[in-house]
Amino acid sequence: MTKDYDVLVLGAGPAGYVAAIRAAQLGLKTAVIDKWLDDNKQPRLGGTCLNVGCIPSKALLESSELYEQMRDQAKLHGIQCQQVNVDIAQMLQRKDKIVEDLTNGIAFLFKKNKIDWIQGEGILLPQKQIEVSDQNGNKKIWSAHSVILATGSSSVEIAAAPLYKDIIVDSTGALKWQQVPERIAVIGAGVIGLELGSVWRRLGSKVIMLEAQSQFLPMVDTDIAKQALRIFKKQGLDIRLDTRVLATKVENNQVIIDYQDSEGKQQLIVDRVIVAVGRRPNTDNIAVAEANLVIDEGGCIHIDEDRGGTSIPGVYAIGDIVRGPMLAHKGSEEGIAVAQRIAGLKSYVNYDVIPAIIYTLPEIAMVGKTEAQLKQMGKPYKVGSFPFSANGRARAMEQPQGLVKILSHQQSDRILGVHILGAQASELIAQAVIAMEFEASSEDLIETIFAHPTLSEALHEAAMAVDGRALHR
Ligand code: FAD
Ligand code: AMP
Repeated sequence: MTKDYDVLVLGAGPAGYVAAIRAAQLGLKTAVIDKWLDDNKQPRLGGTCLNVGCIPSKALLESSELYEQMRDQAKLHGIQCQQVNVDIAQMLQRKDKIVEDLTNGIAFLFKKNKIDWIQGEGILLPQKQIEVSDQNGNKKIWSAHSVILATGSSSVEIAAAPLYKDIIVDSTGALKWQQVPERIAVIGAGVIGLELGSVWRRLGSKVIMLEAQSQFLPMVDTDIAKQALRIFKKQGLDIRLDTRVLATKVENNQVIIDYQDSEGKQQLIVDRVIVAVGRRPNTDNIAVAEANLVIDEGGCIHIDEDRGGTSIPGVYAIGDIVRGPMLAHKGSEEGIAVAQRIAGLKSYVNYDVIPAIIYTLPEIAMVGKTEAQLKQMGKPYKVGSFPFSANGRARAMEQPQGLVKILSHQQSDRILGVHILGAQASELIAQAVIAMEFEASSEDLIETIFAHPTLSEALHEAAMAVDGRALHR
């Protein structure tokens, strides 16, 4: 039977669009189906990450950080800024322009690689066919030798705080406020809550974070999470753990929040609420029942061990709809691996070495195992850590907060985890990722020459600390 394409990709986020480019590079005739429409009902590529996720959030984090630096930090350098004002409309326009340029960039890459872009909502039918309903309600069925599902994820909604206009919003709504709210409650002190809470705190809001769990950032190494909590609280984020939101009510443009903490039932009144309680895979209407696509508990698509194959031969799944961390780069790597698998090439994703970052200031960056995980696994390990307060460059930058912590195997010395709290941790972690990918030991890092003065030297010193011989502390 003739097919329309070699590869059909459903979803143009960082998982799907990267898979498509790699497939096209390998000579496969490829098309991508995506339903995303912007606020003006224009189709946009790039999925959550480019349109309402990684990129716009980082754009606002950058702007708000610059503002805070000018307002509060410049004077530490002897720079007097008489009056620093924020033009929120312009800040949002800058963010929107970055998003527009980058999504247009993907459209350009599709043209360059001769990838067809099919606008509309797709549903998987039997025999590797996808029915697409476009913006105007027209339907068409496309077929391919291989199908890659990459429909991403959406914000979780909770009954205790249903979204309401621009008053109770999810992360997407919190990227659009035209004015700085006086008081904001963020439900969920996870990655997204902390990033968006930081943006609005820096811009002048009083931010109260309500987190149901008693442990702050449970996926982060405990030493790092403890220091980070102290720093974020000092910055003014009112982070309340063990605090579960029970109900919300909008009255006179304000939100009355009922919550429960260790002292019982409490109430709080704020101007705006951000619901940031996690994300769930978009798999509800991904396939008709006759397609026999197996979906695991929790809504993730069931795939084979590490290679992206679903229960249907020739149909693959990648990105936020499959197990593992919901991160753009994880989805992109799976996209490359699956495209290569389809083309008959080597395909591999090293799930043990996926970096994860929280873009607060200081940033939190991590790769590999935490100390608690190693303990739980019963793996013998050594620890070395080094504070940025003893690093010359960090002092010169007026960013002395945080530390680098390295965990390596007690006998082999192979690096098992690296955890960083500090300025530019998001960039520094790449060194640890490369080291771990090359199966380096902490001794390998010790023998590597790091330029002076750099933040990277803290990594060098942390490696030396594993051997009990840090030089500068
Ligand atoms: P998505 O990016 O969600 O893309 C899926 C695409 O599929 C969308 O375009 C959607 O419209 C389309 N689609 C869905 N169903 C259909 C259908 N039936 N038919 C047609 N099209 C469909 N990750 C990081 O790594 N770093 C960060 O800094 C970061 N920051 C974030 C900040 C925020 C505020 C948020 C919300 C997320 C952030 N993430 C970050 C997570 C990141 O955005 C996701 O992990 C990533 O986008 C997942 O990629 P994906 O391709 O699997 O899915
Ligand atoms: P993340 O999955 O990293 O985005 O974090 C989401 C956080 O929201 C988790 O730590 C949850 O414990 C928290 N959370 C979920 N529901 C509630 C609730 N009703 N009140 C407060 N926190 C919540």
